[in-house]
Amino acid sequence: MQVRLAGIKPESVTDGVGVRAVIYFQGCPHDCLGCHNPESHDPSAGYAADTAEILPVVLGNPLVEGITLSGGEPFEQPLAALALARGAKERGKSVWVYTGYRLEEILQRPACRRVLRYIDVLVDGPFVLAERDLALPYRGSRNQRLLALADWQDWLN
Ligand code: SF4
Repeated sequence: MQVRLAGIKPESVTDGVGVRAVIYFQGCPHDCLGCHNPESHDPSAGYAADTAEILPVVLGNPLVEGITLSGGEPFEQPLAALALARGAKERGKSVWVYTGYRLEEILQRPACRRVLRYIDVLVDGPFVLAERDLALPYRGSRNQRLLALADWQDWLN
């Protein structure tokens, strides 16, 4: 499965619990004022990669306990997000996803909804500069929610 990426950070301790490999998707329609990663907005920029080749590399690091999909907007490439999230779960690793969409919007898009069953934690909603709070764990603005989808899987399926 082809995916367009902005980059990969092999180890991070700020994008979810524990040491995580962060996969940054390329392309984002949200255009949040104060975005931390504006170079990720153009869907034609970045580089093409194969999801099947990413996971063995990033999860080959024994320190890494899971992946985080960030961006950019992972749900603009839902089939690639599905392949990565499902592949990580099949390898016994946890999955965090950052999205500018709210869960209610994702639930209305079938291709995106399928990804949810493989996500442990979803950080949802756009970054809102007026709601910015540096003290918040794992998110940038107060409107964003930390949703433990791992506890909701009966309802999501
Ligand atoms: S969703 Fe994230 S990457 Fe997209 S514009 Fe907002 S802060 Fe930037």
